[in-house]
Amino acid sequence: MEYRFDRLFIGGEWVAPIDGGVRPSIDPATGKPWGDVAYGGPRDIDRAVAAAREAFEGRWGRMAPWERAALIRKFADLYATQVDALARIETQDNGRAIRESRGDIGMHAQYYHWFASLADKQGGHTIPMDDSVHAFTTRSAVGVVGTITPWNVPLMAAAWKLGPALAAGCTVVLKPAEQTPASSLALGRLFEEAGFPPGVINIVPGDGVTAGAHLVAHPGVNKVAFTGEGETAKTILKTGADTLKKFSFELGGKAPHILFADADIENALNAATGSAWALCGQSCALGSRILVERPIYDQVVEGFRRNAGRVRVGNPMDPATHMGPQAHQQQLDKTLSYIAIGRDEGAELVTGGTQLAGDGYFVEPTVFAGVGADMRIAQEEIFGPVAAIIPFDGEDEAVAIANGTPYGLAAGLWTGDVGRAHRVAARIEAGMVWVNTYRYIRWSTPYGGVKSSGWGRENGVDALDDYLETKTTIVSTTGKFADPFAN
Ligand code: NAD
Repeated sequence: MEYRFDRLFIGGEWVAPIDGGVRPSIDPATGKPWGDVAYGGPRDIDRAVAAAREAFEGRWGRMAPWERAALIRKFADLYATQVDALARIETQDNGRAIRESRGDIGMHAQYYHWFASLADKQGGHTIPMDDSVHAFTTRSAVGVVGTITPWNVPLMAAAWKLGPALAAGCTVVLKPAEQTPASSLALGRLFEEAGFPPGVINIVPGDGVTAGAHLVAHPGVNKVAFTGEGETAKTILKTGADTLKKFSFELGGKAPHILFADADIENALNAATGSAWALCGQSCALGSRILVERPIYDQVVEGFRRNAGRVRVGNPMDPATHMGPQAHQQQLDKTLSYIAIGRDEGAELVTGGTQLAGDGYFVEPTVFAGVGADMRIAQEEIFGPVAAIIPFDGEDEAVAIANGTPYGLAAGLWTGDVGRAHRVAARIEAGMVWVNTYRYIRWSTPYGGVKSSGWGRENGVDALDDYLETKTTIVSTTGKFADPFAN
């Protein structure tokens, strides 16, 4: 399939930006432009919202849910044939190792199939009442959804939003991150090819503070589904306040990965080191804080040192590469600044810590040990390949450290004691807890954060709730209404 990136996808057509332009997109492996991508501005967002509104009030809004489901399935089948192409586009744009992009994007078709299967199962229910009335609920789509996605996993973030939005019957304006818009634009070709009515999906890359903010403030948008940083979410809430629209937020994390002394250490180390450096550390759910019970502390630190040396860092298009570059210059700077902060705070740099020579944004897999739970590298989201190993004694201290940040997205724990597994999992403040595994996520498993990590859940049956309104209807069985002024 031929993809183009120099046009916006609005109302089923590929159009030139009105008040944006075409800009080079940077390959983070080389630091150089690899292609030209269209960026829209406020007037492009206006066009996209108008197209989405027209589609919602037109053919798409009147389509039977099983017909919507059939279109989503057609799209999913096409998507499955394009995994390799989409993975290459995303890797070119954000530097994620191609083996990871293929693995992740290879699962997306199943997400869309799963949501398609829910499209005609969103009925309401009847409410037991006395026999003077019949009361029931119905559910309908919230309307036009503005979806705003981040640069680390553009197609995954899109799948998690477009799947439930389309299944619920909404129409969408997708604004991908300005650093990595290409793979999201490629989706437009697939929606076109699958035969979606014009305007159901509109794709407008653009800067957050112009295109993004305009989408959030737009009175024609009924809901904003956002994945990104907590600080951006606070700005978005203020920007959208005047229109009182609905919001769902998937925000940052500082996931604790807890290794108890009674764990299967070999498997725990596989999970902990693998997840510390996956996506170059640029994922909200990664175990960036490794909490280690003291009896196994030295063994785990040594395991981290050993596995850091086994990570193949390099050209992300090479299938043998484990870890590519940081996705953009700003993230590279952020990662390097936190490595300096860790050193200044007195954490022990076990291995890594430097940028690799050359023009790309490559950083070594980095391990800090002896990290204090209150240090900034243990409290703040770095979003780079920097593991912070924190020693602890006993369950209570592990739970206190695990819960001791503003975040609450994901957590992992390793133990051979099934009672401890349940006790500790129940006490951890997070939307997702993995026991003796890590990063197992599927279309059917609700995902999202507590505390500063977000509002709402993506995936699972619960995901559709955010895209549906419930209406209660009460019908009198007699039609009689007592005269209020009779006495
Ligand atoms: P970001 O908040 O900088 O940007 C995210 C999106 O918001 C981009 O599309 C950007 O253009 C847009 N944006 C920026 N300012 C805006 C504004 N004022 N109004 C409207 N839109 C605006 O986040 P990022 O750096 O792209 O992504 C990294 C963050 O995303 C990390 O914090 C990470 O943890 C989080 N994340 C969370 C999840 C999750 O599922 N919880 C998944 C992936 C990433």
